[in-house]
Amino acid sequence: LLAVSGLRKSFGENEVLHSIDLEVRRGEVVVLIGPSGSGKTTVLRSLNGLETPDAGVVAFAHGPSVDFSQPVSKAERDSLRNRSAMVFQQHNLFPHRTVLENVIEGPVQVQRVRRADAVSQAEALLERVGLAEKRDAYPHELSGGQQQRVGIVRALALKPDLLLFDEPTSALDPELVGDVLGVMKGLADEGWTMVVVTHELSFARQVADEVLFMDGGVIVERGAPAQLFTAPTHERTRKFLDRIL
Ligand code: ATP
Repeated sequence: LLAVSGLRKSFGENEVLHSIDLEVRRGEVVVLIGPSGSGKTTVLRSLNGLETPDAGVVAFAHGPSVDFSQPVSKAERDSLRNRSAMVFQQHNLFPHRTVLENVIEGPVQVQRVRRADAVSQAEALLERVGLAEKRDAYPHELSGGQQQRVGIVRALALKPDLLLFDEPTSALDPELVGDVLGVMKGLADEGWTMVVVTHELSFARQVADEVLFMDGGVIVERGAPAQLFTAPTHERTRKFLDRIL
């Protein structure tokens, strides 16, 4: 579905991505782990055009393919943005709109879906994550876990080819984490293609097809979770896992 090669990004003097290559096949779940500041979020943001890398190619099957070593137009960035949807660490819901209005905003305003169709689709998605009865609630009336599930529904409503998750549970109270991870696991089982930045290694172990360990702006090691977690080949991976396991 997606091939990324030679991705580089600097903020001023600080080169945060050195040369990132990765591939994601349709239906696959790729989990990105690594210490704070290693560049994980910058990779995700580059995949959907929120960040403009200095070099490298982000290519989706059947287009678009964007080469960042050339000047990139807004139309090209938008074409990347349309292929994926991001779930953020904080839910990013509009505070003065109801749950339903938050979910239909993208389909109606950006994708020009008929309002009635967007509403019935949103209701079905909310039902799926156990939030049907919250459709007319405002974000502040929901728990953090519920807000995050609405964030996921909002991404699903865009019908993207690729779902991107940036530490979706790290701002949640521990007892709410399981609900959100449960929804994500369900999506993986349904065949959604996902790239997930997370520190939840048990989720990675159960759900990931491939785990990438990033440190200092490079992918140090990659492999199936069973291999990477039990027999990492790099010292840096071992040290990181020792610290968080
Ligand atoms: P975390 O787990 O803490 O979110 P991360 O692995 O996702 O970390 P990034 O957020 O990608 O790391 O950040 C990588 C580096 O880039 C960090 O050193 C960060 O300070 C720097 N950085 C990220 N965004 C910007 C920005 N907009 N301007 C300047 N520096 C930035």
